[in-house]
Amino acid sequence: MMMIPLRRAFRFYNMKKAIVIGSGAVGLCTAYFLQKEGVEVSVVSASKKGDSDGCSYGNAGMIVPSHLTPLAAPGVIRKGIKWLLDPQSPLYIKPRLNADLISWLWHFIQSSNTRNVQEAGPLLLEMNVESRDLFKSISDKEALNYHYERGGLMMLYKTNAYQDEEEHLAEKAREFGLEIEVLNAVQLRDHENQLEADVLGGVWYKSDAHIVPQRFMEEITDLLVKKGVQFHYDKRIDSIVKENGRIKSIKSLQEEFEADEYILCSGSWSQEMVKTLQINLPIQAGKGYHLHIPSVPLQLKTPSILCEAKVAMTPMLNDLRISGTMEFAGLDLSVNKNRVEGIKNSVDKYFKKFDKNLFNGLIPWAGLRPVSPDGLPYIGRSKSISNLSFNTGHAMMGLSFAPISGKVLSEILLNGRSKINTDRLDPERFN
Ligand SMILES: Cc1cc2nc3c(=O)[nH]c(=O)nc-3n(C[C@H](O)[C@H](O)[C@H](O)COP(=O)(O)OP(=O)(O)OC[C@H]3O[C@@H](n4cnc5c(N)ncnc54)[C@H](O)[C@@H]3O)c2cc1C
Repeated sequence: MMMIPLRRAFRFYNMKKAIVIGSGAVGLCTAYFLQKEGVEVSVVSASKKGDSDGCSYGNAGMIVPSHLTPLAAPGVIRKGIKWLLDPQSPLYIKPRLNADLISWLWHFIQSSNTRNVQEAGPLLLEMNVESRDLFKSISDKEALNYHYERGGLMMLYKTNAYQDEEEHLAEKAREFGLEIEVLNAVQLRDHENQLEADVLGGVWYKSDAHIVPQRFMEEITDLLVKKGVQFHYDKRIDSIVKENGRIKSIKSLQEEFEADEYILCSGSWSQEMVKTLQINLPIQAGKGYHLHIPSVPLQLKTPSILCEAKVAMTPMLNDLRISGTMEFAGLDLSVNKNRVEGIKNSVDKYFKKFDKNLFNGLIPWAGLRPVSPDGLPYIGRSKSISNLSFNTGHAMMGLSFAPISGKVLSEILLNGRSKINTDRLDPERFN
């Protein structure tokens, strides 16, 4: 019989069984770390079994310690207003009189300041570096193969304005200890010799890594099943039963589920879910697209972001995934052809040998990033409901952050606190 040390047994006194709501990258990593500590975990998800359409499958696969600046930063509103006027630009906000959107925009504007950048930067870096290392250690320890590669990330620019901005950011990142190389046009043409980069220069963040997200999702799901985690697919939770300041159960149309602890990991749908509990969790869905080119004849060497176009390019084995745009249009997955054209029209401006015909016949994929107004996720316990916790709102870094967020949340639930200071991640900070 397995012996549980007394201290651990005591910690479990109140938590034998946990339900994770949502089977995206964040939900799965949360389940992984809780299960590892001996908690009986179930995952209840609106997704169908084998459904690989979600945001966590179709993202760009980048793991990004380089991303030190939160979305809410000085200057972003000025740039945003310029982009809103261009139908092919990377940003769009669908005009609508919606109280949640208006409140989100208000908080976003309030957060777009130097203080937010200075305070959020070190936290984003700490989480991203630890998470990157967890991707590596989980794949080694559990013998998973999601093609983790530490090849770095190239920020490519074509204009002086972006060169100045990127070099300035690189200086800052160097101060934080990141390994960086700035390459000029000739060096980049040599580096990306297959596609022949045609840029002014680029900043190479050697700290970054990438994976094949679909493989990650499949491998970690299989692992959890083997470890005894119960999956309940196709169960959209539409009501939460509260009793004496606690959640008693959660209900889908067909079934009711009970546990000691409930962890909300439902991405862009999280705000709707907790409205009946009088919890304000501002999240807007930031729609993005990808075009996935199978077996490209000429491959990109290093994952890259095309700075002016805000397009991400990721080599995934023999394939090339090209992603972009941030569209705030509600929980709507329809494809805006103009924005997709914007992505298609950008790549051959940066790479002379990229053949635009490779886009012919490809069906654009769309996914919803759960975006909080200050660019930081919501991780931690609810103050008002004793057995509810949150792990959501990770925006453009939800894949990057998934392992560390799962680890942090399991530390909070099992030890009362995490090694990472989570004060700024308080889920009820906008209440
Ligand atoms: C184009 C694009 C590129 C991106 N590139 C990157 C990248 O390179 N690196 C990076 O780190 N991030 C990237 N992201 C962001 C990243 O994909 C997301 O932040 C991440 O997938 C969010 O994961 P999640 O688990 O929180 O949510 P999701 O993956 O959206 O999962 C939410 C889960 O909740 C379930 N759910 C919803 N409502 C309910 C309900 N009522 N009841 C039960 N279950 C429910 C859903 O079925 C789903 O299983 C990108 C996103 C896009 C769109």
